[in-house]
Amino acid sequence: MGKVEAPQFFLGIDFGTSGARAAVIDAKQELIWQEKAQFPQVPGPQLPTVWRQSLFSLLEQIPTELRSQIQAIAIDGTSSTVLLLDGQGKVLMEPLLYNDDRGREVKHLLSAMAPADHLVQSATSSLAKLLWYGQQSEFQQARYFCHQADWLASLLHGGRPISDYHNALKLGYDPETLTYPDWLKNAPWFSLLPPVTIPGTAIASLSSSVVNSYKFPPTCQVCSGTTDSIAAFLASGATQPGEAVTSLGSTLVLKLLSAKPVTDLASGVYSHRLGNLWLTGGASNAGGAVLQHFFSLEQLRELSPKIDPHQPSGLDYYPLLQPGERFPINDPNLLPRLEPRPGDDVTFLQGLLEGLTRIEARGYAKLQALGATPLTKVLTAGGGAENLIWQTIRQNLLQVPVQKSIQSEAAYGSACLARSGIVTAGFS
Ligand code: ADP
Repeated sequence: MGKVEAPQFFLGIDFGTSGARAAVIDAKQELIWQEKAQFPQVPGPQLPTVWRQSLFSLLEQIPTELRSQIQAIAIDGTSSTVLLLDGQGKVLMEPLLYNDDRGREVKHLLSAMAPADHLVQSATSSLAKLLWYGQQSEFQQARYFCHQADWLASLLHGGRPISDYHNALKLGYDPETLTYPDWLKNAPWFSLLPPVTIPGTAIASLSSSVVNSYKFPPTCQVCSGTTDSIAAFLASGATQPGEAVTSLGSTLVLKLLSAKPVTDLASGVYSHRLGNLWLTGGASNAGGAVLQHFFSLEQLRELSPKIDPHQPSGLDYYPLLQPGERFPINDPNLLPRLEPRPGDDVTFLQGLLEGLTRIEARGYAKLQALGATPLTKVLTAGGGAENLIWQTIRQNLLQVPVQKSIQSEAAYGSACLARSGIVTAGFS
């Protein structure tokens, strides 16, 4: 009789802006179980308690027989959401969230410290937030500075927070040389910074208290994590240079795997390392929010099939809700172009979808012009991925295969990270 292998499962947990999700996959990357926890609205200082409770409540909800066979766990969090801890791991001040820009108060400190054209020069970077914490009296008791994902993982393994080169990018970590640069190493508070690993590296076993309380296998590994948007990209299964994921949500977000990193900070373009490849991209202010301004979801579903995608409308829209664009055109005064409005709604909707598609095509062309690998295939995520007529319009203009992503949940992407890590997942 052949030996029957015990099944192996992998857990990914996504901490987004409004809630957390957990996903369990098997060794073949099949989704086995998922659950979500909505965050209650609480003042900033209570957020760590809410995040901790959400984490442990999700663990508790995993069916016992699955939980007892989970081999590895990875957590993603919102990029540049950071915490300051004392030596016992106690949170010293309210976390600073991804979009918190009080770092503008320490712009002078940033410019004195980091190179002028560096990603960390933004008021919302992790480094700007660390410098802001540095001005508060609690900073004297600080022992650790870390990202949301690092902190949540430390609650599982019980050791000091460990980061990954995705979360640490906006802290100033150099993913090319895999080191912190000298201008950070020379700072008096450098010892507060987390060690940085390749995302998905097994960093420690689960703490014995978590193993005993939740009946995980004692060998279960906690892996370093990633950011929520990279986890969503990992969910798509794209692994080759030239493969991209377009997110058709409220805004239009492009992500392209490239053999080379590219940067154009004025347009919000930069690159994250993924094994031996680079993940680059940009976000337009245009997107599904414009469609929803003019049409209900029901109307979008009803009118779209009436469009003939092979007969262009002849309209030349740039669908913005207000003036200002960053990518692919960097112009804070760019005006929306939504005239003339034809008499029938089907043609108007077609004009909007074509306008958004031209922005998508121009975005990928811009990334290529900056030196990224040319586009070979587009996977689609977000609400607009449901629209098959739009998919045809996009394929006609982009001239590469366009498909819906089978998986686009960040929790699923983090589970894949727990299963194979970045390097063994084929990004090389
Ligand atoms: P968010 O970025 O807010 O998370 P979602 O990924 O949920 O957004 O996508 C919501 C967007 O998807 C809406 O703005 C809407 O315009 C778009 N959308 C939903 N259904 C359709 C459809 N059938 N055709 C085109 N767009 C759609």
